[in-house]
Amino acid sequence: MKKSIIDIWNNSKMFNYVRSIGVSAECEICDLYKNNNCSGGCPVSSKYFTGTFESKNEFCYIEV
Ligand code: SF4
Repeated sequence: MKKSIIDIWNNSKMFNYVRSIGVSAECEICDLYKNNNCSGGCPVSSKYFTGTFESKNEFCYIEV
């Protein structure tokens, strides 16, 4: 049975998991995050460098 792209987008286990990934505690209090100028960086690079998706990004705008 074929699924529509909308159904996949809204109900995919993988997409819902990706949407549930949060940001680090530092990012939550960051002005760039609060003003929607940064979303906490790429969760994949965070996972690669630190082992968790929700850690502070290695390429943080404030520190680069
Ligand atoms: S990655 Fe850096 S600039 Fe972006 S929200 Fe987090 S602390 Fe702020």
